[in-house]
Amino acid sequence: MVKDTKLYDTLGVSPTASENELKKAYRKLALKYHPDKNPDGADKFKEISHAYEILSDPHKRETYDSFGEEGLSGDAGGMGMNPEDLFSSFFGFGGSSRNSGPRRGKDLVHPLKVSLEDLYKGKVFKLSIKHNIICKACNGKGGKEGAVKSCSDCNGRGVKFVRRQIGPMIQQYQTSCSTCNGTGEIINKELECKTCHSKKVVQETKIIEVPIDKGMTDGQQITFSGEADQAPGIEAGDIIIVVKEKPHDVFKRKGRDLYIDQKIDLITALTGGTFNIKHLDDRYLNVTINPGEIIKPDQTKCINNEGMPTYRNPFDKGYLYVKFEVEFPTTEWYSDEKAQMLKSVLPSIQQEKIPSNAVIDECVMSNIDPNAKSQQQDRSDMYDDDDERGSGPQVQCAQQ
Ligand SMILES: [Zn+2]
Ligand SMILES: [Zn+2]
Repeated sequence: MVKDTKLYDTLGVSPTASENELKKAYRKLALKYHPDKNPDGADKFKEISHAYEILSDPHKRETYDSFGEEGLSGDAGGMGMNPEDLFSSFFGFGGSSRNSGPRRGKDLVHPLKVSLEDLYKGKVFKLSIKHNIICKACNGKGGKEGAVKSCSDCNGRGVKFVRRQIGPMIQQYQTSCSTCNGTGEIINKELECKTCHSKKVVQETKIIEVPIDKGMTDGQQITFSGEADQAPGIEAGDIIIVVKEKPHDVFKRKGRDLYIDQKIDLITALTGGTFNIKHLDDRYLNVTINPGEIIKPDQTKCINNEGMPTYRNPFDKGYLYVKFEVEFPTTEWYSDEKAQMLKSVLPSIQQEKIPSNAVIDECVMSNIDPNAKSQQQDRSDMYDDDDERGSGPQVQCAQQ
């Protein structure tokens, strides 16, 4: 005998209703009174949700049967779920989407490393993937009629709720069902499917072709709908391939633009000439620096339409930015004779005149030892903690 039948009445079922009957009743009523379908149904929808939330939980149902709704105050009854959330999770979709349909399996996300060359030129990758498919030998039934039965000890949930009294306290906890080892099913070995051993699914290796289109970017996704694991009674999820752009030795990419560091020698920087860039599609760009252009160290110039192709519009390309590194001659190159020749042609900066009454200290520079900390650096470490600390190299001048 149950103390109160109100919640059962709300769902229109008897207090002896099975879990399945409760589910059916909830499904029918929730769809009928959902505020989307029935503008006046909001209150009724809440009542149905509340009733189903309690009765679908074996532990709460037990408490309700023994003590009525009063018994559910506090932790056991709790605040209750948002009726909308309950509805969503029951029909197997999240968020505010309201389409009903079968429960959906997990998506399978697979990263694919792609070189910049392949993102430039485009390529079809063949990937071997493993996924579960419904066993064809038993059509996903697990064997002959009666091979798989729902576990009656846990009502097919795989878990049981256990109550234990310790003094005045009643402790409740959830435990894996030992009758079915937490699977929710009892398998009759005699009748089981020999192909899938009543797992209902078998693993299959499949080759999928992943088209990497020109101009695709890091993080872009290619979806194969319904190609993830199949299982009886669910809609298979998607296989989602996520493009991971591999770093390139020569080119850096920012959106549609490419960046390259280009070494040129001092004479080319000063007098012009040409240099070559091997592009991502193996073409060579032969680039001209016009005489008189004078390239400065770290100067950046750009080449139009030699960047990355635009996704879905590959003839439209971004910029290729070229940053120049000017190679200066080494000390060995130097001779007084060459110096004289340069002095006769290169311009020089007019030095500021030192007034005749000024004090003059003669200095020579020494090379900087990156490992040596100057005294000034040590002191600033001791005294201040503002952001100026350690900015720039510390140069020490050898005193004469
Ligand atoms: Zn069980
Ligand atoms: Zn099978």
